[in-house]
Amino acid sequence: TTALDVAAVRKDFPILQQQVHGKTLVYLDNGATTQKPKVVIDTIERYYETYNSNVHRGVHHLSQVATDAYEKARQTVAGYINAPNANQVIFTKGTTDGINLVANAMSRRFLKKGDSVIISAMEHHSNIVPWQMACEDSGATLKVIPINDKGELLMDAYEAMLDDTVKIVAVTYVSNTMGTINPVEDIITLAHARNIPVLIDAAQAIQHLTIDVQALQPDFLVFSGHKIYAPTGIGVLYGTSEWLNKLPPYQGGGDMIKTVTFEKTIYNELPYKFEAGTPNIAGAIGLGAAIEYLQQTGIPAIQQWEEELTAYAVDQLRQIDGLRFIGDAAHRSGAISFLVHNIHPFDMGELLDQQGIAVRTGHHCTEPLMDRFQIPGTVRASLTFYNTMEEIDKLVAGVKRASKMLL
Ligand code: PMP
Repeated sequence: TTALDVAAVRKDFPILQQQVHGKTLVYLDNGATTQKPKVVIDTIERYYETYNSNVHRGVHHLSQVATDAYEKARQTVAGYINAPNANQVIFTKGTTDGINLVANAMSRRFLKKGDSVIISAMEHHSNIVPWQMACEDSGATLKVIPINDKGELLMDAYEAMLDDTVKIVAVTYVSNTMGTINPVEDIITLAHARNIPVLIDAAQAIQHLTIDVQALQPDFLVFSGHKIYAPTGIGVLYGTSEWLNKLPPYQGGGDMIKTVTFEKTIYNELPYKFEAGTPNIAGAIGLGAAIEYLQQTGIPAIQQWEEELTAYAVDQLRQIDGLRFIGDAAHRSGAISFLVHNIHPFDMGELLDQQGIAVRTGHHCTEPLMDRFQIPGTVRASLTFYNTMEEIDKLVAGVKRASKMLL
């Protein structure tokens, strides 16, 4: 692969060219949300300036242009994850929305008292709370795969948990807090041996790893557009035809129907059955543009650069006196969490911000994981392909400087 031209890539992201507190911005909060390349911003602008119109409804010209662009974006997403059919790509508001859709439908049709749902100790709140709600409504029990001190799933414990009560397994591909890459292939294979469906939360994987749903074979896979250089308010639920056809609709309304009478409604086919109401048209088109941008920039080169950056960051941070990682998995991507001596993460985050370095501090919507490590929160640097080695050096120097000031 040809190496990534990071300097050229950075020019594609207007927001990176600014100063914060008089310092050049070092944006290391990509796990929370990613920045948008100009082409995505322009695509959305062009939509509103030249063909804004509702989709699937009008015979008029603009409506057809908008519908074509919206459906082309669905094709682009389907191609990116290698979905067998674009009608298995449902546009949602985001990861949270996709998980709620599946959890809600599962609790209404497929969960009852005595059943159980498996999640893991490192889940984001959005892959915990919807399942707690589903269990509360159905009488099912929530079970949690434990982790070791490095932040890796205990696969033996997982295997032992798989019994006939389990009706679904929902786990994250990559931990948003620790960056752990979970062995989702094995998780799915073990569940499928017992005919148990698996939902993969790919919110932190879709932008860093190649995901081929036909190879991986998840029953459901969800992600958010805003973590892959697209706008907020758009996301994707991929599902197998079998499960998407089996699940009842989530919300009722326009577009999700074939015919409506007061006596009975016939639901629309996939994917429209799950897309009630006017969708986020600009968001979907923006997501398509973001994926095309990645493909044109070169995904192998992007991934290789991200791996080099992460390895360098982990190596450099490890040498800081008094620094310990929260999660130090053998296979990792994106996020790096740490604490230095007994310095509170908020204090560290504030001093880094004064140096123009944006990191996230706190529990990262993984409170049970913080409890597991008996800490209130972490400092999290999360990297992506527009970051540079110089920015890692600035982070390391910034952490050292802040430590000196705070100790
Ligand atoms: N799961 C994981 C692993 C995440 O990192 C996030 C976002 N931080 C979510 C779910 C929720 O995504 P969203 O807020 O975009 O719905």
